[in-house]
Amino acid sequence: YAKLSGKNTYKFFNDDLKLQLDRRAFLEAELRKAINNDELHICYQPKYRLSNRELVGMEALIRWENSTLGPVMPMDFIPLAEDIGLINEIGKWVIKEVLVTMNTWMAKGYPLVKVSVNVSQKQFRSGELVQYIESCLNAYEIDAQYLEVEITESVLEDSELVIPQLNELKDMGVGISIDDFGTGYSSLSLIKDLPIDTLKIDRSFLRDALSNQKESSIVKAILNIGHTLNLNMVAEGIETEEQLKLLLELNCPDGQGYFFSKPLPPDELEETVLNGTFVQQ
Ligand code: C2E
Ligand code: MG
Ligand code: MG
Ligand code: MG
Repeated sequence: YAKLSGKNTYKFFNDDLKLQLDRRAFLEAELRKAINNDELHICYQPKYRLSNRELVGMEALIRWENSTLGPVMPMDFIPLAEDIGLINEIGKWVIKEVLVTMNTWMAKGYPLVKVSVNVSQKQFRSGELVQYIESCLNAYEIDAQYLEVEITESVLEDSELVIPQLNELKDMGVGISIDDFGTGYSSLSLIKDLPIDTLKIDRSFLRDALSNQKESSIVKAILNIGHTLNLNMVAEGIETEEQLKLLLELNCPDGQGYFFSKPLPPDELEETVLNGTFVQQ
């Protein structure tokens, strides 16, 4: 009996593994076709000045809607895209799509706000990122001050390659933001030497900040670093009024999160946020 069940376990394990591999192969094949099949979209999450709830920017977040898989979240395909060498193509699609959308907003007469685009470490290895951003800004007539790149601390593992490109972007007028600050490779001296404008406080610190003294001390410490280095700061993942209150007490300038708004498709964002009918009470 033990032998039988052992065999079954082995078989189940095999089936399970096979299923996982099949799923990955399927995801990979579908992802390769996603751009041409028009399955990628961008949602925009507004960022607000916390003291007066003024709209100060938004973050562009990629979405993938596949006919078989349904919606696939970035965490389930961005790492895959990085692994299989697709991140450059997808990353370029994102940059272009964002600037095309900003161009249509401008044409409709909406005042532009800064849009932040997430950029992977691997995109800096292509050697064409800065050039590509510059040519898209020119093509869609967007002033560089309205674009920001969000990078994670992990890009610092490649600092010799990345820092010169960040300096070029900075010189062009593009903003640089450190995403998920405090969760990764935080070398404070490197952060001091990087051409950074903004620190984004990871939502994991905020999540428990109200109940947990240690977490709120981390939020405080990050805000102190940011104030000292004269950086802008954005709290991620504000979900409740209590969290907002705490951030206001700690003098955190800006924030984003479900409390204000989920990431929205461009037409919905236009209807609610950009035309000003969206009033957060
Ligand atoms: P991120 O850049 O840290 O983005 C913030 C994530 O938090 C987003 O998840 C957003 O939808 C989510 N979020 C916002 N407010 C709240 C909140 O109040 N509560 C909670 N629980 N979550 C909130 P999303 O869109 O699933 O993106 C996940 C990650 O995927 C991003 O983290 C970013 O690292 C990556 N990503 C997204 N779009 C792109 C892209 O175009 N290119 C690259 N390279 N990475 C991207
Ligand atoms: Mg981000
Ligand atoms: Mg983040
Ligand atoms: Mg994150």
